[in-house]
Amino acid sequence: MTTVLVTGGAGYIGSHACKALARAGFTPVAFDNLSTGWAEAVRFGPLERGDLLDRAAIDAAMEKHRPVAVMHFAALSLVGESMQDPGRYWRVNLGGALNLIESAVAHGVKNVVFSSTCATYGDQDGVVLDEDTPQRPINAYGGSKRAIEEVLGDFGASHGLRRVIFRYFNVAGADPEGELGEQHQPETHLIPLMLEAVAGKRPALTVFGEDYPTRDGTCLRDYVHVTDLAQAHVLGLRWLLEGKEDRVFCLGSGTGFTVKEVIAASRAVTNREVPVVMGARRAGDAAALVSGSRRAVEELGWEPQHSSLRQMIGDAWAWAQKPGYQR
Ligand code: UDP
Repeated sequence: MTTVLVTGGAGYIGSHACKALARAGFTPVAFDNLSTGWAEAVRFGPLERGDLLDRAAIDAAMEKHRPVAVMHFAALSLVGESMQDPGRYWRVNLGGALNLIESAVAHGVKNVVFSSTCATYGDQDGVVLDEDTPQRPINAYGGSKRAIEEVLGDFGASHGLRRVIFRYFNVAGADPEGELGEQHQPETHLIPLMLEAVAGKRPALTVFGEDYPTRDGTCLRDYVHVTDLAQAHVLGLRWLLEGKEDRVFCLGSGTGFTVKEVIAASRAVTNREVPVVMGARRAGDAAALVSGSRRAVEELGWEPQHSSLRQMIGDAWAWAQKPGYQR
């Protein structure tokens, strides 16, 4: 069996990627410190509990499992938090990635699939974003991710490290089979917060700003179903294992929805009202982030099947009815 080390494999996206890998015949080994992930979400291969700032722990996992590739998801990923504590974001995200990359090359692991983000683009005034759009991050989260992309390039030149970089847009939804879902503590993401408000678990959803230059004044985002995203990672891994060239792929649907449109779609899916209050802008938010890329579809053969807003909200709503992971 071909083993893949999946950092952040107990997290939201990483756990869905582990499921997709197992389905495709790989053995996913989740490397996770469980700071934000859940042991219960590791269901498709072993869990190695460890921290990326602990180089010896990474080396031990590499020696024990001898992976053919690394999928690197583990990171701090909240835009707002990264504006309040940039040092922590740089230390954890960049420091962790450096340890991982150096351990990989020391153990002869030449293939990396990396979780990057459209937050590396910053706020580009309505520009439709693709892989060639210049990256100008406006928050420490995006800055740290862009830096890791650069580091991967340097190790490509120095050690022949090969990489597929995915720049995600807004990931949403839950495993359509109901085995996995999104559970963050604290939760900061729009769709789960909105559904908590619908379910009466919080008084209301606060909309962060309605004075943005978008069609209804609220921020516009391009949402992708987590299962479609996970599938792209399997394709990216195969791409590397087939010896194809280093590549960056944007993973988005190409369609943006405003916060108000997401709220309207939720009403249609759940048949319930969303209690909403209008709030101030959140620091670090770009007005609009939409992917204009078809590269993943055309080159990688990616076929997103679940990424209608209706299904993403529907799968998240089904997951929200379940008891959820326990610590
Ligand atoms: N958002 C909001 N209220 C919330 C959480 C998010 O209005 O309680 C907005 C946020 O400003 C952004 C969009 O919803 O425009 C998506 O935010 P999320 O945190 O889900 O993802 P991000 O775009 O930060 O990766």
